[in-house]
Amino acid sequence: MKPPPFEYHAPPSLEEALTLLREHGDEAKALAGGQSLVPLLNFRLARPRHLIDLNRIPSLDYIREDDGALAVGAMTRQRAVERSPLVRERCPLLAEAMPLVGHFQIRNRGTVGGSLAHADPAAELPAVVTALRGALVARRPGGQRVIPAERFFVAYLTTALEPDELLVEARFPAPPPRSGSAFLEVSRRHGDFALVGVAAVVTLDEGGVLTHAALALTGVGPTPVLAEEAARVLVGDRPTPQAFEAAARKVSEGLRPDADLHASAEYRRHVAGVLARRALARAVEQVGGGAR
Ligand SMILES: Cc1cc2nc3c(=O)[nH]c(=O)nc-3n(C[C@H](O)[C@H](O)[C@H](O)COP(=O)(O)OP(=O)(O)OC[C@H]3O[C@@H](n4cnc5c(N)ncnc54)[C@H](O)[C@@H]3O)c2cc1C
Repeated sequence: MKPPPFEYHAPPSLEEALTLLREHGDEAKALAGGQSLVPLLNFRLARPRHLIDLNRIPSLDYIREDDGALAVGAMTRQRAVERSPLVRERCPLLAEAMPLVGHFQIRNRGTVGGSLAHADPAAELPAVVTALRGALVARRPGGQRVIPAERFFVAYLTTALEPDELLVEARFPAPPPRSGSAFLEVSRRHGDFALVGVAAVVTLDEGGVLTHAALALTGVGPTPVLAEEAARVLVGDRPTPQAFEAAARKVSEGLRPDADLHASAEYRRHVAGVLARRALARAVEQVGGGAR
């Protein structure tokens, strides 16, 4: 399979990439790791006239702490995130989810920005940034805006990015002390996209009462789903199996997943509840173990 013809640009700086994007607007696409875009081109599901390759822009490749958050540049390879001690220390949820993205060969090329901008409804990173109430930084020539994760993923494979904007950074806020997290998923084979995935984040006070809980799910809707009602029933309660069971029920009841070739809607709803219960228990265990 061959892609339709396109003009290839390899700008050496972010400013030049943004200028090209403004010039070509709707007819252009950014090329990051190419792990999703190249198949789309080859199947002729995308037909951009211009490809703007971001791989020669080293300023978009970084992992650092910034103002209480872990900041990850859009062109940071998924494998670099997976191997980063700083990510493990400052954002264990991201560290846990990263190895679940495809196979390591894909993560060697695939980027954090590419995964978030592609917004696959079964991808792990959109659920992670949503559960943590993180944000995405978008740049256009002469301007920048910070988009909260809840508003970034707007529909199937669609984000709030405008045609002349590039995603330049993902921000994962560091959870407060006495927080724990877990990411669990079910997929048919190792490396496949998840049928259902759950990111859980909890915070407990000194007395062992839940002061915060967040559950974000992947694979059960066109965008990541925040199970807000389930989180609400947990806060103010002790983290008991009964409380997790009640939250898991709310998760299942609140979902309206589509059925497809891989799983029925009922199966997805059931698995989402089971994973939510297990993820909550694991997240709470981490607090006991002193993890952040
Ligand atoms: C066999 C296989 C299995 C996979 N399994 C999984 C999985 O289990 N979980 C998962 O999450 N992913 C999975 N993926 C997808 C993989 O994670 C990709 O790396 C990711 O979806 C896209 O990242 P990329 O850097 O390759 O982006 P690209 O393919 O280069 O780009 C993807 C899209 O994002 C846009 N884009 C890229 N960067 C930017 C930017 N900075 N600003 C604006 N737009 C941008 C592009 O224009 C394009 O539309 C799989 C892929 C394959 C081939």
